[in-house]
Amino acid sequence: MLKNVTEYYYPGSLAEASELHDRESRSFFISGGTALALSDSTRPVELIDISRLGLNKLKLDRASGNLKIGATTKIQRIVESEAARSVLGGFLSESLEEIGSYPVRNAGTLGGSLVRPFPWSDVIPILSVLETEVTYFHEGDKKTREFSKLYESDFRSTLNRSIITELSISLPEKGNAAAKFIKFSRSEFDVAALNLACRLTVEDGNISEARLSIGARPMTGERIEKVENDLVGEKLTGNLAKEAAIFAADVTDLGGNDKLSKEYREQLVKKMTEEAIVDIKREVANES
Ligand SMILES: Cc1cc2nc3c(=O)[nH]c(=O)nc-3n(C[C@H](O)[C@H](O)[C@H](O)COP(=O)(O)OP(=O)(O)OC[C@H]3O[C@@H](n4cnc5c(N)ncnc54)[C@H](O)[C@@H]3O)c2cc1C
Repeated sequence: MLKNVTEYYYPGSLAEASELHDRESRSFFISGGTALALSDSTRPVELIDISRLGLNKLKLDRASGNLKIGATTKIQRIVESEAARSVLGGFLSESLEEIGSYPVRNAGTLGGSLVRPFPWSDVIPILSVLETEVTYFHEGDKKTREFSKLYESDFRSTLNRSIITELSISLPEKGNAAAKFIKFSRSEFDVAALNLACRLTVEDGNISEARLSIGARPMTGERIEKVENDLVGEKLTGNLAKEAAIFAADVTDLGGNDKLSKEYREQLVKKMTEEAIVDIKREVANES
């Protein structure tokens, strides 16, 4: 818990929130407060509460084929929403339900999990395999950025000074697409010791698009593009799943920590990649 909060603001607008943040003091935006509560810093801080700015809309825009999620939307609300269930046969809601416990999901927001993500974050691999765009407020303007470019080093300082306002997830337009999220943890409520998300689109019998993202490596989640590139153009078979799994274990940058050794993670990457692809194959076959 932050031990020295000197001021707590409720700004009335994004512009006001941003101005408060720009001042010399050490200040943080606060939404659900679940991640900030983990800090035990004694340094003085000011908190700028953005939870009353109306950034909690959750809407499926069928015309544009996008699911729009306001940044301060509670994770549990997304899990329970009909609109979210329409993303890839329930992939989004089912995978977000793997996050922490009900109280954490009921207080924590989607936007709050993005700016300073934990390396074991489940949200990063989940959103990485979807077509996700992030809208943020910076220096008086709203701008958008692809989720896959959110953590590029030259964007870091902009991200740290921005208010994330909305996420937009495009629903797949063509082909048969399916996705799978797998989390390995030591107990039901523990954070991931390794997590993996995969999405494949099959058109005319071959994979036309592939996304694979692995987190808690123990480093923050990232896409494994070498595997993605290898999958595109191939027929979705059990044998391909096996080959991709071996390749993923070989090319993914993994390490060891107090939860798991590097060697254990390699075995898990192999097993989880194969399982994800085989499950997707089954789902795609049922759709066609
Ligand atoms: C006990 C526990 C278990 C957890 N388990 C998991 C798990 O299994 N898997 C997983 O993926 N995550 C897990 N989490 C992380 C959880 O999902 C995040 O703590 C939560 O989503 C953060 O949202 P918040 O609104 O509470 O953020 P806050 O605590 O309010 O803010 C977090 C950070 O983001 C900044 N911020 C917040 N909102 C915005 C915004 N809109 N724009 C810009 N900056 C913003 C804040 O300044 C702060 O730096 C766990 C957390 C806890 C406490």
